[in-house]
Amino acid sequence: MQNLDIAKFGGTSVANYEAMSNCVKVVTMNPNTKLVVVSACAGVTNLLVELASGACDSAKREEIIAQVFAIHQKIIAQLGNEAQHEAVIKEYLGVVRDLAVQATMTRTDMITDRLVSHGELMSSYLITELFKQQGYKAQWFDVRKVMRTDSNFGKATALVEVISALTKEHLRPLLEGDSIIVTQGFIGADSSGQTTTLGRGGSDYSAALLGESCHAATISIWTDVPGVYTTDPRLVPSAKPIPELTYLEAAEMATFGAKILHPSTLVPAVRCDIPVYVGSSKEPEKGGTWVRPTTEYAPAFRAVALRKNQTLIVLSSPKMVGATGFLAQVFGIFAKYNLSVDLVSTSEVSIAVTLDAGTQTSGLSNIPESLFHELREFCHVKVEHDLSLVAVIGNNMARTSHITAEVFSSIDDYTVRMICYGASSHNLCFLVEQSEAESVLRKLHQRLLESAA
Ligand code: ADP
Ligand code: ASP
Ligand code: MG
Repeated sequence: MQNLDIAKFGGTSVANYEAMSNCVKVVTMNPNTKLVVVSACAGVTNLLVELASGACDSAKREEIIAQVFAIHQKIIAQLGNEAQHEAVIKEYLGVVRDLAVQATMTRTDMITDRLVSHGELMSSYLITELFKQQGYKAQWFDVRKVMRTDSNFGKATALVEVISALTKEHLRPLLEGDSIIVTQGFIGADSSGQTTTLGRGGSDYSAALLGESCHAATISIWTDVPGVYTTDPRLVPSAKPIPELTYLEAAEMATFGAKILHPSTLVPAVRCDIPVYVGSSKEPEKGGTWVRPTTEYAPAFRAVALRKNQTLIVLSSPKMVGATGFLAQVFGIFAKYNLSVDLVSTSEVSIAVTLDAGTQTSGLSNIPESLFHELREFCHVKVEHDLSLVAVIGNNMARTSHITAEVFSSIDDYTVRMICYGASSHNLCFLVEQSEAESVLRKLHQRLLESAA
């Protein structure tokens, strides 16, 4: 289909009947929106993750299942056909209960993914029914038929070429029909049909992957704020929406903690040059942000972002002096554990790196103790937790004078633990104590993004 728009709605956008009705309005306003991707209703994924932890006794298990049921039942109460819809949700919750019991015996990421996928399965079922109730043709589609991933449960890797072939066969023909197709974000399946997930917040990425494989003209991310702001408006109420951002700026923001977009979202969009729109499903009239290859205005300071729970690892060894291959050895070990390093700084005898403890669906840290044992075999290892990474995002940063002075003079009361600057002209990042991070963010925002306005 030409000019296809894919609309993704996050958890708060499908939290209840009223929110879901706003989604229906947004979708039906644009005749090009034929594919709808939804997250689980707000709060449901967290409850399912708790069930999957295996730590719930039977009373707790039933309490959580009742909570999950109540969230969906409230929607059903306004949908009509209550008996039919309740039976569907109860059937899904029956599977959830069985998996939760299994998890108490052995918790695995495979069970977690299967269990947690029910959040998206239930919300997509109900919103499809809501489209129908409001007189629109809609069809539920199981995304696992096309969203092929590897078997890295908890944070699977999307297999783009397979997704493209499967989409061509199973999904694109449906988009030629006159129904709105509704499907799930976040979940996929491996080659043996086991359910996988793309990691927390992964529905944005699902929408972008489907945008790529369906040759969409636009990808719309509908959420609870009218666009991408100069920083998280929950942390800094004076933050302002940004009308236009480049792919690079948006990708840096997402990578460095702007939760509004999953960090991988821009990857498929950039590959196929698909503009991404971010807006509020509750207040679509407020406008939003267009993310495109280039923008007219490219300020030195565009936004600030914060990523909490960073782990700093300092590796030191006198053998590093004049030696070659030390960094290769260290990075080889990180690669073996599938860990990506964010910030790096080196001196003559030491190297400091930061790792993100995880966006795994289970919520568990992806940094195993065995990593440290292995590193300790050839160097001294010091590990620090409870740090936050602050990123200043902008343009031509490494080639503009006064950048560092402006950034650091505004926060000279705080201790900065590590600085990375120069590798990208779009960011300057540093580590601070977690307890000071929000106040650092506010100061920086005030100095760099409010005073110039
Ligand atoms: P959804 O459930 O729709 O995916 P998320 O909670 O994942 O929504 O993302 C939206 C939230 O992202 C906003 O409510 C806001 O608190 C947070 N956020 C973080 N950084 C930014 C930013 N720079 N601009 C806008 N929102 C941001
Ligand atoms: N429901 C999933 C989560 O809460 C995926 C998403 O919302 O994007 O992480
Ligand atoms: Mg999200």
